[in-house]
Amino acid sequence: MDNAGIEQMVADFTSSYSRRRKVKTPWQQPLVGFASAEDHLFGRFKEIIRSTHATPREVLHGAKSVVVYFIPFSEKLHRENFETEYYCSRSWAVAYVETNRLISDINEYIRGTLESDGHRVAIIPPTHNFDQKSLMSDWSHRHIAYVAGIGSFGAHNLIITEKGCTGRIGSLVTDLALEVSPPSNQEFCLQKAGIDCLKCVERCRYDALYADRFDRHACYQQCLVNDQYHQDLGLTDVCGKCSAMVPCSVTNPVKNRGGGNRR
Ligand code: SF4
Ligand code: SF4
Repeated sequence: MDNAGIEQMVADFTSSYSRRRKVKTPWQQPLVGFASAEDHLFGRFKEIIRSTHATPREVLHGAKSVVVYFIPFSEKLHRENFETEYYCSRSWAVAYVETNRLISDINEYIRGTLESDGHRVAIIPPTHNFDQKSLMSDWSHRHIAYVAGIGSFGAHNLIITEKGCTGRIGSLVTDLALEVSPPSNQEFCLQKAGIDCLKCVERCRYDALYADRFDRHACYQQCLVNDQYHQDLGLTDVCGKCSAMVPCSVTNPVKNRGGGNRR
């Protein structure tokens, strides 16, 4: 198994998912990235994220690679989430639940395939593996996605990829050696590239996202409001308004303007 084989597995599993489970969410073709388990950035996460953040080798003894994938939502989902005034749209909440399940199923599928080839794999849940008090996780899929070259951070703290920021991230660790896709040296966020934007800040009316700070607790409070509102769907602690109808929703807006070198 090589990089291309894993990319194909993620793509095929996603495109054929509606044959395995009853789902409503339309997804685009996933982006897949690969990091070395020994990348020095993983060691720095204990300083810059939290001291208990795991390294790949703490997740899996003898790990060689980390596989990360971004599953983009279709364009209509963020439009619908923009159109609802206060709560997140029903389709956004459904997409959250269904994509988390898709990620768990992809991870199980890849693990089964690699284990049958004699490799070891550790899989990480797509969400709800965070500390309830600090609301921080010991495995940040967004930071791991950055290391694997999937994209770069936006002013809204989400990863912006070549297919935007509306979607979800999955990852797993394996002892299979894979070719690395290094972090991008480009900014994908207009504001960070020196072009005035901050549309994401405008979208947040919940006192969570500002130009110069992010209140994680206020954000999660709004996610719980949405969970209550969509309680018939299961756990839907999600919001996403800061990623709805903004320049980076479904594309890399800096690339579209022909720029993006880090300042
Ligand atoms: S909306 Fe603008 S400022 Fe906010 S993350 Fe996207 S590109 Fe950056
Ligand atoms: S997810 Fe919602 S509450 Fe959190 S920063 Fe974005 S718009 Fe604000």
